[in-house]
Amino acid sequence: MLENLTDRLQGVIKTLRGQARLTEENISDAMREVRMALLEADVALPVVKEFIAQVKQRAQGQEVLQSLTPGQAVIQVVHDELTELMGKANVGLNLAAVAPAIILMAGLQGSGKTTTSAKLAKLLKEQKKKVLLASADVYRPAAIEQLKTLAKQLDVDCFDSNATQKPLDIAAAALDFAKRGYYDVIIFDTAGRLGIDEAMMAEIKALHTLLNPIETLFVVDAMQGQDAVNTAKAFGDTLPLTGVILTKLDGDSRGGAALSVRHITGKPIKFVGVSEKVDGLEPFHPERMASRILGMGDVLSLIEQAHKNVDMAEAQKLADKVKSGKNFDLDDFKAQMSQMRKMGGMGALMDKMPAQMAGMANKMNPDDADKAIRRIEGIINSMTALERRKPELIKATRKKRIADGSGVQVQEVNRLLKQFEETQKMMKMFAKGGMAKMMRNMGN
Ligand code: GDP
Repeated sequence: MLENLTDRLQGVIKTLRGQARLTEENISDAMREVRMALLEADVALPVVKEFIAQVKQRAQGQEVLQSLTPGQAVIQVVHDELTELMGKANVGLNLAAVAPAIILMAGLQGSGKTTTSAKLAKLLKEQKKKVLLASADVYRPAAIEQLKTLAKQLDVDCFDSNATQKPLDIAAAALDFAKRGYYDVIIFDTAGRLGIDEAMMAEIKALHTLLNPIETLFVVDAMQGQDAVNTAKAFGDTLPLTGVILTKLDGDSRGGAALSVRHITGKPIKFVGVSEKVDGLEPFHPERMASRILGMGDVLSLIEQAHKNVDMAEAQKLADKVKSGKNFDLDDFKAQMSQMRKMGGMGALMDKMPAQMAGMANKMNPDDADKAIRRIEGIINSMTALERRKPELIKATRKKRIADGSGVQVQEVNRLLKQFEETQKMMKMFAKGGMAKMMRNMGN
C-alpha cells in the first residue's frame, strides 16, 4: 500500500534530517521532491499545489526556524498537513437513527460495493448489531447471489430479492422486512454501471429518496487513481453523500486517491478496503495513514489488530514466560508463529511497520513468509509432546520421522531447529536485559 510514495518521501526525509540549518533554498528543493512524489502517486494537481503552498508557508515560519532540529520540524509540518488533507480525525459510522439505521451503498460496478457491504455487515455484527443485507443490483449477473453467499458465510441475514424485481420495490419490501424483524441496521447494496450514466444516477437518487438513509456511502476503487476522485465528485453532486469507502488500497502502490478524495469531495473517508477477504476493511485514521505514508509505521493499528485477533490471555502467558526467563520451548515457538498468522500474516504486519523495520523484512515475499510459517507449524505438529518440550532430544532418527510425518526434507527440520535455537537465545537475552540489550547484541 502506497509503497512508492513512502519510498520517495523517505529520500526527502533523510536529506531534511541531515540538515543542521535550513535555508529557503533547501526547503524549496525538498518541496520540489515532495511535489514530484505526490504527482507520481497520482494525487490530483490542485490538491498537490495547495498542499505544497501550505507546507512551504509553515516551513518558512517561526515554528520551524526557531526549532533546534529544523529538518525534523519540517517533517512534522508535512505530517500535520498530510493528516489535515485526509480529514484530521477518524469519522465513524453514524447509526443514530430510529431502527433500522439505513446504509445506502453507491458506486460504480466493480468498485467493490458488494464485497464492502458484506465487510461492513461483519464489522457491525461484531458490535452486536442485528444486521440485514439487501441487494437491488438487478443488472449485474449474479450480484444478488454474490451477496447472499457472503451473508451466509458471515451468518448474517440477507433479504431475499431477485433480478426480476424492480429496485424500488426491493427497497420498500426490504425496509418493511427490516422493521418487522427489529433489525438495528440495513445495508442496502445497489447497482453500479461501468461509468457515470444518467439512468443509474436517476435510480440511485430515487432509492435515496425512498429509503432516506442516515448513511450514504460512496464506494470507490483506489486503483482508479485520478478517475476515482472524478467519479466521487460526480456522485457527490447527485447524492448527499455522508462518507467514502476507498477499496483495494492493498493493490495500489500509488494510492493518490487516499490523499485527494477528501479534499475534492469534502466527505470523510470512513473506511478503507485492504484485502479481498471479508475481514479486509479498516476504519480510516488520517493521522495514522500520514505516519504510514511517511514510513513511520502505524503501530496503533498494529496493536489494535493484535487485540482483535490474538488471544490476549495466550499472548500474556507467552510474554510472562519470556520475562521470567523460563524455558522457551517449541510449543511456545509454534504459538508465536500462529499469533503472527492470526494478525493477518506477514504482509499485513509489514504494511504497518516503520519503513526501516519493514525494509529488513522486505527481503522476503510476504506470501512466502506466510507459507514458511505454515510449514513450520506442520513440522512442529509432527513432533511428540516430549520433543517439543525438550528439542535437544531430536537427533537423526527422530528428525527423519518428523520430516516424513510432515512431508518435508530432513534439512528443513534442521533449519527449523536452528531458527528455534536462535529465537530461544534471543528470548533469554530479552529476559535478562530487555529490549535495549537485545538490540545492542543484535547489532554486533
Ligand atoms: P461491485 O460490482 O461494486 O459490487 O464489486 P465487487 O464487490 O463484486 O468487487 C469487485 C472485485 O473487487 C471483486 O473481485 C472483489 O473481491 C474485489 N475487491 C473488493 N474490495 C477489495 C479490496 O479492498 N481489496 C482487494 N484486493 N480486492 C477487493
